[in-house]
Amino acid sequence: MREPVYYSGSAQFFDTHAHIYDRRFETCNTNTEDILQRCRASGVTSVLIPADSEETSRIAVEMANKYDGCEGVTLYASVGVHPHEAKTYTDDTEKYLRSCLESRKEQKIRALGEIGLDYYYDLSERSVQRDVFARQLELAYEYDIPIILHERDATGDCLDILRRFYREGRLRGVPGVCHCCSCSLEASQELIKMGFYIGFDGPLTFKNNKKTPEVALNTPWDRIVIETDSPYLTPEPNRGLINEPCHVAFVCARLAEIKGVTIDEAAQITYDNGKKLYGVN
Ligand SMILES: [Zn+2]
Repeated sequence: MREPVYYSGSAQFFDTHAHIYDRRFETCNTNTEDILQRCRASGVTSVLIPADSEETSRIAVEMANKYDGCEGVTLYASVGVHPHEAKTYTDDTEKYLRSCLESRKEQKIRALGEIGLDYYYDLSERSVQRDVFARQLELAYEYDIPIILHERDATGDCLDILRRFYREGRLRGVPGVCHCCSCSLEASQELIKMGFYIGFDGPLTFKNNKKTPEVALNTPWDRIVIETDSPYLTPEPNRGLINEPCHVAFVCARLAEIKGVTIDEAAQITYDNGKKLYGVN
């Protein structure tokens, strides 16, 4: 098998989105300690582990607490129900999310997500997706916590719902992050106006992708965070291999190239932005 390339410079990175509990890691015989060891070697000192269901919320929180500080990597978690899983959302799910959000500080929970709409896969009925998205937006406002927004092929409806919350004053000043941004330049600009951060990952490095570099170029520095979305969307030059947080350096390198700064500068800014987004020191 092809060996991955690793970053070996001195910059420090915050991978703001990595599903390091994913079963794909087990099938590759990669354990969490190995992943964190490679994080340390590549300068990744903070990672947020996002959830997509009640089950992965439990796992993300457990992992963030169990492995926090291992290999010098600070871990955080999110809890929430992804649009794919919207059909599983019940009053009990909401009760569970509330219990997490009430003890969010002690449990290292720093965001509510992934939440949003996905009309590409349509794994839950669209009306159910919209309803569950809105219910979790209410929770985010009530508990004053940023969201991790997942949106695919549903920009119109997604913006409609967000605009309604924004108009009614029920979005935080920093509502959250548009993770793995794949929307148009126009839509990204509207999200930025509402206060969102924009998250960039592997697709920014893909040669055939013209849209995302354009969005990155037009996103102000103070709204950019970087992420891997591990284990998927591996950036170049490791595309085709399993994705790990240590590869976030290549997303940062591409971002630096697009914006005309050094990787060290881009790393520092996005690191500080990650901390501001998730309210950590
Ligand atoms: Zn994700």
